[in-house]
Formats: sequence, C-alpha cells, structure tokens
Amino acid sequence: MSLFEVEAWKERMDERWFDTGAAMAEAGAVDLVSIEDDKVTAHVTGSVGDLYVVQLWAPAGEGLCTCPGFEKFGACKHQAAVVTAANTADLGKVRDRMARLRDGLALDSREALIERLIELARTQPAVLTALEGR
Ligand SMILES: [Zn+2]
Repeated sequence: MSLFEVEAWKERMDERWFDTGAAMAEAGAVDLVSIEDDKVTAHVTGSVGDLYVVQLWAPAGEGLCTCPGFEKFGACKHQAAVVTAANTADLGKVRDRMARLRDGLALDSREALIERLIELARTQPAVLTALEGR
C-alpha cells in the first residue's frame, strides 16, 4: 500500500506541476530524510540547484515546502516529487535513518559534537542562524 494518496495530492496543483515533480523524483532529486508517524521530511533539489525542505503528512494531510512557489500558491512540484519518491522508496531505510544518525552521534564525545556543530555553523548559514537562536 502506498504511503500517500496520489489523487488527493494531484488535486491540489496543476497537473503539469505534478508530472514535473514526479519526473524530478524519477531523476533522483528527492532525498527522503525521515518518517515520523505520518510526517515525511525530504530535501528536494530544485530545477536550478536550490535545495528545498518539504514536509508532508500522509496520506493526504498538510504539506509544506520552503520554495517560493509554495509560498505563492500553497502547493508545488516539490510536494509531488516527495509523494512520488515516498510511494516508491524502501521506507524501512528512511524510517531508520534518523535513528542511525542518532546512534552515530551518540558515539562522539561532547567536545567532538561541539566541534562538529561549530564547523557546520561556520560553513552553513542556516545552521549558524538556528544555533544563535535568531
Ligand atoms: Zn516547493
């Protein structure tokens, strides 16, 4: 059984957007990051290389994306890309991904974790902003 109801997501957007999103998924633009309960989080590489964060609630709940199109229209092709990718992926691997990351991080010392976060803050503006609480 599919995680997402494709028809319900198609109704939210222009058919061409959905088809474009599905093609993006098939081209490998979607990185499925986590599944917690019915919430799927994914990183989607946009058509000009921008990276967007998509959060969707299965099977046909709320959907969010960080792209300008979502802000303007309340739906976007990146959501279609995630619906398509999640419905064809090995979800077991995705479900375990954050747990594996957590387990890996738990092996590091407190000092090593701090240094990793400082390095991320130095090189990733969004991490710096988040860690400074701005
Ligand atoms: Zn989007």
